[in-house]
Amino acid sequence: MQEKTLDFLPVASEPHACPKPSRKSKFKALLHVLILALVAGAIGTAAFHGGTSCGRKDSSIAETFDGTCGQVDVLFPQRHSQLWANLTATFGSRDYQSKTITWLSEAIQVPTESWDAMGPVGEDPRWEVLAPFHEYLEKAFPLVYSNLKVTKVNTYGIIYEWKGTSPELKPVLFAAHQDVVPVETNTVDEWNYPPFSGHFDGEKIWGRGASDDKSGLIGVLVALETLISHGYQPTRSIVLASGFDEEVSGLRGAATLAPVLQDLYGKNGFAFVIDEGSGFGKEYGTTFAMVGTAEKGYTDVEVKVASAGGHSSLPPDHTSIGILSAMLTHLESNPFKLEFSRDHPLYGSLQCLATHATNMPHDLRKLIRASTTSDDAMSKLTSTMSKDRSMKNLIGTTQAIDLISGGIKANALPEQAAAIVNHRISVTSSLKATKDRDVQLLTGLASQFNLSFTAFGEVVARGSEGSLTLGDPFHDGLEPAPITSTDAAPFQVLSGTIRATFNSHRGLTGPDHIFVTPGTMSGNTDTRYYWDLAPSIFRYNHQNFGDVLIGVPKGIHTVNEYMEADSFMEMIEFFTMLILNTDESTHL
Ligand SMILES: [Zn+2]
Repeated sequence: MQEKTLDFLPVASEPHACPKPSRKSKFKALLHVLILALVAGAIGTAAFHGGTSCGRKDSSIAETFDGTCGQVDVLFPQRHSQLWANLTATFGSRDYQSKTITWLSEAIQVPTESWDAMGPVGEDPRWEVLAPFHEYLEKAFPLVYSNLKVTKVNTYGIIYEWKGTSPELKPVLFAAHQDVVPVETNTVDEWNYPPFSGHFDGEKIWGRGASDDKSGLIGVLVALETLISHGYQPTRSIVLASGFDEEVSGLRGAATLAPVLQDLYGKNGFAFVIDEGSGFGKEYGTTFAMVGTAEKGYTDVEVKVASAGGHSSLPPDHTSIGILSAMLTHLESNPFKLEFSRDHPLYGSLQCLATHATNMPHDLRKLIRASTTSDDAMSKLTSTMSKDRSMKNLIGTTQAIDLISGGIKANALPEQAAAIVNHRISVTSSLKATKDRDVQLLTGLASQFNLSFTAFGEVVARGSEGSLTLGDPFHDGLEPAPITSTDAAPFQVLSGTIRATFNSHRGLTGPDHIFVTPGTMSGNTDTRYYWDLAPSIFRYNHQNFGDVLIGVPKGIHTVNEYMEADSFMEMIEFFTMLILNTDESTHL
């Protein structure tokens, strides 16, 4: 990032004694808290920048600004207050804590890697590693397996059902996947500990899947096992669905679980769905939890040019490769215009920062605040966001030319040339708008080169020098996920639970230790198959991201993935309290 691109940034005046942070670091701080960075189409994680404690405290504005980031109070179990007290004692015991470490460590030791282009279950032997993983789960969680109904779907998908005593209450659906990103063999030496060792160094549990997503799966199972051991019986049913190929698109796992879940519980049959996603961390001196309430869409568009072949000693002015190159250059010269509206979840995130982050620069807070009522300020804010690549990519629709082919011989004119353009679609846009824009952008060039133009099966124009075809070769188009409401009861219960867990884990009281904001996933989780199961879908599992400066924390999808034992413990507390709070809620 060039410093000069950041000249727009409003900077607060600092107290004289404080070293003035660079504009760049301040702006990055804002951006990183908002980034639900995504790796390889799988888990999204929030990356947080630690707020400086030496900034101007703009608490007067924070206190008086009536922003759009209302917070619910901490929510502790009431009817189950004695049970919660007992559970808290259990969570605090050394023996229990060391058992939770063993649970996660042993789960990591079964290398449940999923690979691109695997064959069907039963044919491709690489799936078979899931069998010993299932054996491990059954051995490790005997109470879950003897008290809950366990159903296997497509051999390795698992549905755990804990029937509540009040069948009229909508159940809650937890989701977590069993598979992990493969470890590249040539990177094994870079790991501090062998990637499938599950080594515990006294503070962290190391290994592939420690964070993504065995901490989620094992965390929920530990919560269930612990609740059963305390004699708990839910009134509201609890369901856990576990796919086994989330890292390679979920087609054999979550996609086969979804119709079974819908058959069992009906359309919108769940109070809400909660899957892997984001966590919490510090920004501008204040701790925020970012709940993924939206996921971007996805499509791969093939741009294919065909023209007459022949000997290259008698060439036309433009070969199919030359024409394709012109098309691709034109696409890259015309990035999607950034549309940022007040109903975008990231706008909600900005409001939360402006309202609650104590050390946010004054002018930035002022701009965000003004944008709630002023269209001029809104467009200035949009312009501010568009100047940062990360933020622009997270808010808007993106394009990336990822594959190209054409030509087979040095002295033969290529009859065909093709490229694949990958789009991640803004949560406020659509597949159709994305495709329409590609068609509109290339229509002029098709005419200029006198090509027949067919786009997604429709004839757009006729020509005589060849053809241009846009298509969807992988049939993998995915609309942006429906945006989960932050006004509805499920978000309120989740928010209160997040705040209560944070306090409980640290022995704090009072409402202002952590603030909850909506956020956007730039990639997809297994929830892409669960849209019809509940209107409220959350991608959040209460991982502690601390003060990560940039990128994806905890070695997710790369070397040295780990989970702090204390953070894992807090995840278990979160899942447990969420079960109790949803059981007690009369609004879900
Ligand atoms: Zn994941």
